[in-house]
Amino acid sequence: MPIQLTTLSQSSLQDYNDCPRRFELRYLEQLTYPAIETEPALENEKHQQEGEYFHRLAQQHLIGIPAEQIEKLANSDNLQRWWANFLPFSQSHLSRLTRRHAESTLSAPLGKFRLVAKYDLIGFDQDKIYIYDWKTYRKRPKNEWLAIRWQTRVYRALLVQAGAHFNDGKPIQPEQIEMVYWFPDFPNDPAHFPYKGDQFKRDWDALVKLSSEITNASSFPKTDEVSKCNYCPYRSYCNRGVRAGDALEAELETEAEELFDINFEQIGEIEF
Ligand code: SF4
Repeated sequence: MPIQLTTLSQSSLQDYNDCPRRFELRYLEQLTYPAIETEPALENEKHQQEGEYFHRLAQQHLIGIPAEQIEKLANSDNLQRWWANFLPFSQSHLSRLTRRHAESTLSAPLGKFRLVAKYDLIGFDQDKIYIYDWKTYRKRPKNEWLAIRWQTRVYRALLVQAGAHFNDGKPIQPEQIEMVYWFPDFPNDPAHFPYKGDQFKRDWDALVKLSSEITNASSFPKTDEVSKCNYCPYRSYCNRGVRAGDALEAELETEAEELFDINFEQIGEIEF
């Protein structure tokens, strides 16, 4: 494999899963986006930035900054609505957690790589451990779609594999874990994904297999599913159309790569 790639994330694995060529362009060749990802581009970009900003507001709230102060920072219609929905959710659900770790990063060896994930919130409620992820989607995705995303599989499996230091050094059992996607625009309809030992085994085996496949890959073919190209920023490299796809569909399929936000010094402190 002609690469210096050392880490894999749910986003890079999802890209590899969806289109090996996209994985190659984005992570191996590290090309910046040559085409507008979706239409209308500016509106979509603004929504993405607001989504990132909302994550910051949530994190500040979770580390104890007073709500009145955070409310002043919610300076757009979307942010005000998301914050207004988040606060009661936090008061009713997150406040009962006995321990909370916001914006935490975990990593573990995976074949020749390190598997890395950044969690919006890992929260303990007695023996139960919740992984919370905030999704500012404009459209509520189906649970079936979320269940098979690499994020759902990677986040739970990596917490089992590398999360013991959050659990006083004791190994975390898959049955303790539940992943919750909470949608600021659909506050009463979160998606819950509990975990089991056989699911963990299936996920980790699949991750090992995938990492080996990526290591040994001699080519990264374009996807046969041409519909995946509609919102792909690399369309112009692949002769797969110029006009961008629908923004609502795109935001479900192509999320910003969170890996660049990861603080690698922080990973160093907690790596296993
Ligand atoms: S345009 Fe299509 S084939 Fe090319 S990288 Fe994107 S998804 Fe893959």
